[in-house]
Amino acid sequence: MNLQFNDSSITVAVVGCGGFIGCHLLDAILTRTQWRVFGVDLDFYRIQHRLGDERCEFMVADLADKSVVERIAKYPIVVNLAAICVPSRYMAEAPEVIRSNYDHPAALADACAKSGSWLIHFSTSEIYGRTSADSGLLLEDETELTFGPVTASRWSYATAKLLTERYIAGLKNLKWTVVRPFNFVGPYMDFMPGVDGSGIPRVLANFSSALVRGEPLKLVNGGVAKRSFTSVFDAVDFMFALFEVGFSANAVGMTSKAAGKSPLSQAFNIGNPDNELTIAELAEKMRKIFADIRGVPVDSIPEPEEVSGVEYYGEGYEDSMRRLPSVEKAERLLGFKAKTPIDVVLRESLEWFVGHYSNTSYSDTDSASS
Ligand code: UDP
Repeated sequence: MNLQFNDSSITVAVVGCGGFIGCHLLDAILTRTQWRVFGVDLDFYRIQHRLGDERCEFMVADLADKSVVERIAKYPIVVNLAAICVPSRYMAEAPEVIRSNYDHPAALADACAKSGSWLIHFSTSEIYGRTSADSGLLLEDETELTFGPVTASRWSYATAKLLTERYIAGLKNLKWTVVRPFNFVGPYMDFMPGVDGSGIPRVLANFSSALVRGEPLKLVNGGVAKRSFTSVFDAVDFMFALFEVGFSANAVGMTSKAAGKSPLSQAFNIGNPDNELTIAELAEKMRKIFADIRGVPVDSIPEPEEVSGVEYYGEGYEDSMRRLPSVEKAERLLGFKAKTPIDVVLRESLEWFVGHYSNTSYSDTDSASS
């Protein structure tokens, strides 16, 4: 084990510790290190089993509270996972989405610049914008970023996240690393609409919900868009590679200039280009895995149905047609490469979803579709 992981005097602040990524990161920090955690979130249902842990202190709060922001920035490492990231809300609640994804993280970045903390900020692969079907590998520092017109409110989330990246990169005294997740999937992802959340979650949770309810999967605009799905457990391994290289480059305790070649002042894609599928292919794989889990023939599972993006998500919806990450930089600077194959990721996620929601009564809940 790396020496610094044994150092019980280190406390890492995890903002959004109760979310999908946060709950897995929290588990890994507590299992693989001797660190303490200062966790902030509004919802703790995914981390009930950690609430009494003596190495953790939790706070029910969000970044809208200035005193909380200052408190978080006292710790040497700050991981910010907090965000509104429910796709249907990008259209319906654009101002709130922008406040959550720009105003709040920018205030946290200011506080970290003042205190000298290393800010690891979770951005999004959506900052690559309105990519076309024939776009190739998306490179952190080279790919041109294109968004739709302001009436296409789908891009409220992405443009707020992008502005935050630019703000962070512009702060002179900030030690920062930005990470751009490419469609993370795994246990505890999002929610089941009408059961423990509202709106339309991301595709995997939405397809899982429809399968459990015996409803057809909805293929937005024919399901021709492509995504590269990444195991959340690979994402956690990425974080440990980042911590390790950050320590050896002295990211903690030195200025970014002094650190020289390091993960500081860098944005990293975290993705798995080997796991690329069209959404229609994803639907077929998920139907097969679900049929296998339930021990029924696949043709007993309803066929997918096509729906238009605007009809499904509302006015202002547009799509990225392909999101294929270049992962060369993470390999070169951190020695990290995601390794979990698509079939393993999907089975693991779906088995968890089916088990987790199997005691829920679906008959009196809202439908998954809008
Ligand atoms: N999608 C779909 N059916 C659904 C949910 C999403 O066809 O029930 C599509 C969506 O239009 C997009 C892709 O799946 O092309 C991925 O959408 P998601 O909301 O998961 O996140 P994104 O990768 O677009 O940020």
